[in-house]
Amino acid sequence: MIALTFDDGPSKYTPEVLKVLKENDSKATFFVVGSQVERFGDVLNQVIEDGNEVGNHSYNHKDLTTVSDEELYKQVKGTDDLIYIASGYTPTLMRSPYGKGGDELNEKISKPVIKWSVDTRDWESRNTEMIVDEVIKNVKDGDIVLMHDLYDSTAEAAKIVIPKLVEMGYQLVTVSELSAYRDITLTPGQQYYNMYK
Ligand SMILES: [Zn+2]
Repeated sequence: MIALTFDDGPSKYTPEVLKVLKENDSKATFFVVGSQVERFGDVLNQVIEDGNEVGNHSYNHKDLTTVSDEELYKQVKGTDDLIYIASGYTPTLMRSPYGKGGDELNEKISKPVIKWSVDTRDWESRNTEMIVDEVIKNVKDGDIVLMHDLYDSTAEAAKIVIPKLVEMGYQLVTVSELSAYRDITLTPGQQYYNMYK
């Protein structure tokens, strides 16, 4: 089992990712930013309707290790509220922008904080072939894979990677599903990089 995660959306590319997930009976987790939710509320609803998971990724992708407690509260709670207003859904998971922060920040966030074990660096390469290679070469059972549904190159990579992983015998599930299958209790204030057996 693998948990694919897509950050920084929803965007105009998200529907392409949703389509290939659906065609392959697969699910993923989307860590959304509040400012994008304001623009792409209809896409967010499609993410949820298709059975995917939505996580909180701050309001405007600030480094949360540098903000005041008041600003942190706004970034987290404000984004939860925007997601709820747009969709009626409240995320249980958080991913901090840039994967920053340790125990102190995680405790203040008061949600399970999800990091990753495979980094496609898709934002850097913007190269479909390189993104596909990063996933296929490195992936193993229990991995959490980081991608961004903000780029055309990533949407194109998803169209190759998702059927390929299914063909390799992997089930693509949400982070919460993966943790449940692995009997891992997701605890607020704790962080998780993978769900290995
Ligand atoms: Zn991000």
